[in-house]
Amino acid sequence: MSHARSEEAFQSAQVLMPGGVNSPARACRSVGAEPVFIASAQGPILTDLDGAEYIDYVGAFGPMILGHGHPGVLAAVEEQLQLGMTYGAPTTGETELAQAIVDATPGIERLRLVNSGTEATMSALRVARGFTGREKVIKMAGCYHGHADFLLVKAGSGALTLGSPDSAGVTAGTAQDTLVAPHNDLAAVESLFSSHPGEIAAVILEPVVGNMGVVPPVDGYLQGLRELTAKHGALLVFDEVMTGFRVDRASAQGRYGVTPDLTCLGKVIGGGLPVGAYGGRGDVMAAVAPEGGVYQAGTNSGNPLSVAAGLATLRVLASEPIHERLEVLGARLQRGLESAIADAGRVGCVQRVGSMITLFFTEGPVRCLDDIPSSAVEQFGVFWRAMREHGVYLPPSQYEAWFISAAHDEEIIDKTVEIARRALAS
Ligand SMILES: *Cc1c(COP(=O)(O)O)cnc(C)c1O
Repeated sequence: MSHARSEEAFQSAQVLMPGGVNSPARACRSVGAEPVFIASAQGPILTDLDGAEYIDYVGAFGPMILGHGHPGVLAAVEEQLQLGMTYGAPTTGETELAQAIVDATPGIERLRLVNSGTEATMSALRVARGFTGREKVIKMAGCYHGHADFLLVKAGSGALTLGSPDSAGVTAGTAQDTLVAPHNDLAAVESLFSSHPGEIAAVILEPVVGNMGVVPPVDGYLQGLRELTAKHGALLVFDEVMTGFRVDRASAQGRYGVTPDLTCLGKVIGGGLPVGAYGGRGDVMAAVAPEGGVYQAGTNSGNPLSVAAGLATLRVLASEPIHERLEVLGARLQRGLESAIADAGRVGCVQRVGSMITLFFTEGPVRCLDDIPSSAVEQFGVFWRAMREHGVYLPPSQYEAWFISAAHDEEIIDKTVEIARRALAS
């Protein structure tokens, strides 16, 4: 398949934008490839500029849980479009979306809508600091929480594959308030609390990590963090920007039965348009201006188009057995990949929670960043290129989750496994 048009488009883009992209992972450098440019998407299929079709497991890095072009979501956006794009004044849609989120999410009593996951985590931790009067936060190595300065310390996702987990431009002063523990290691968090008594405002993590590839919490980890934070007067913040409404209708906190003080959302709740949200305990959220002294604002916060797309998406998730279906499809893909690995005599493990799945080229289990050897990253690049060449579009890094949508079906999953068989054998 020729990529001539994509190659030409990439040349022009590289002149104008660093790496030719507006978000680094899209440049495909960590898998040793150049990006294809996408012309359109429908259901589970992406079509590139040269007319090639791909089964999509990127899902726009998480939002597209219903697949591309869901008729209900399109209709909601089209209807809002006729009424105006944005007003800078409140709308009832915002209240409806807030209600839908509160109804589904155990840890959210009140919330704020923002424009991205980055804004959600940045704002949630500002609130945690304002509420507790403390300055330090604990994060886990390999968890990604967007690109706010103080969270770009040992961050996951695209920040990992740049080879510089700590971004240039982040000051030492900012970074010193971020304490880092290895993931899935309760004792490490406990010792940070002991060595910084009364200083830690919050612990933030991805309850199911997607940004080092899919890494579930080990037994008792989330519960242990809940108890530790409560004991030390710190807030527990779940970054569910990826897992929110993805791994369960009640998000990871519902799936694992552990309720955080604050929750960050994004991706799925925008139905494909830009959005984020943070919320939690009523007493904590009362710290936000104009009720309290923690400032946070946004020209496009609660944008009517994003709200319409998000609300339409959440209504489908609330009324149809989508998560049950995704569990079945996820299990089928997992079994298929595991048998393909075994039959090819390769070393690999498949980790999955619901419709988030990663094939790691290591024996596993992968519980933290150090469990992923550099050989896995190299093998993943070879595998990724073969998959794309044969029509399967995976997230372009070993450190990413693949996403299954409700528009995928058994036939598409089986076709994916067949292509993976060939890629693994070669
Ligand atoms: C994607 C993501 C973010 C950042 O969201 P943006 O909308 O890209 O700013 C934060 N946290 C997690 C867990 C994410 O997956």
